[in-house]
Amino acid sequence: MSRRVLVVYTGGTIGMVSSNGTYVPAADFGTRLARHLSERTAELPPFDVIELNQLIDSANLTPSNWTTMARVLVDHWDRYDGFVVLHGTDTMSYTAAALSYMLRGCDKPVILTGSQIPLERSRTDALDNVIASLCLASVPGISEVCLYFCGKLLRGTRARKLKTSELDAFDSPNAPALGHVGIDLELRHDLLLPPSRPDFQVPTFNPRSVVALALFPGMPAALLESALALPELKGLIIHTYGAGNAPDGDPALIGALAQGIRRGIAVLNVSQCQHGLVAQKAYASGAALERIGVIPGSDLTPEAAFAKCHFLLATGHSGKSLSEALPHPLSGDCTVLWQGTDDRTPCP
Ligand code: ASP
Repeated sequence: MSRRVLVVYTGGTIGMVSSNGTYVPAADFGTRLARHLSERTAELPPFDVIELNQLIDSANLTPSNWTTMARVLVDHWDRYDGFVVLHGTDTMSYTAAALSYMLRGCDKPVILTGSQIPLERSRTDALDNVIASLCLASVPGISEVCLYFCGKLLRGTRARKLKTSELDAFDSPNAPALGHVGIDLELRHDLLLPPSRPDFQVPTFNPRSVVALALFPGMPAALLESALALPELKGLIIHTYGAGNAPDGDPALIGALAQGIRRGIAVLNVSQCQHGLVAQKAYASGAALERIGVIPGSDLTPEAAFAKCHFLLATGHSGKSLSEALPHPLSGDCTVLWQGTDDRTPCP
């Protein structure tokens, strides 16, 4: 019996139309897709399309949209063998990570995709991405949330949008692709997560509980102080330099972080670099963070770090349990950091 797929359309360029010279989300994607696929549907797995009531440009995404999307998937879980989520590319990697955390132990494929050029344009990449995603969503053997784009199948917690205008916009810089779609569909069964028992948690998120800030040369400590003073803040993601370094020459800035940590805010350190791990003890400028209790984020992507902090908070972690859970790998999101003394010698 053929495996049935549910396509959930949430908005994004893939379904957008031009209005007054700019792209805006548009409804009725299922009918439009059927028109474009026409005779090709016979070769594809059977599928249904549903669309969310509020279609968004994903730049407007808030954590509450994650709850809506996960609820739709969970409500239809038993009736389908796989799922495709059509999403705007701008924040697709945030949602891919959030869904990976919410749908842990997933026993079916959930494939997020979208396009750089809308379906209705002649050079669209929408059809290739949707067709490949439908095929992947009907394949037994994928039991996790993935992002598919332009030939690459990526782990949901590892994917990032890296290019604004190329069609191969996504990659997972710190983890190998889980599969490739070319003439053949090749899956890395050695890397895919094994199927397990669904352990779904679809919480309500507090959008004001997590903030992410990128360090920049000369960043005023007052900026960090005001972020850390936000009344509902529980987690701060700092995007640091290189191997996880921050200006330890600015005592006000380090002091602001230390004070926030003392007040129970978890501060998680991810690197502004795309490749490699945070090694907080390598330089004095990173060791200053280590000393005050900043949590090294290993090779977590900034998007996964943000979604993970939200997910853990929304599922009841706080204080010590949040700080302990953040660096611990979840849904294949990061490499376990070596716990011993770091004897890397800084460059002269
Ligand atoms: N702004 C669009 C969105 O994220 C971009 C895209 O889908 O490619 O919804």
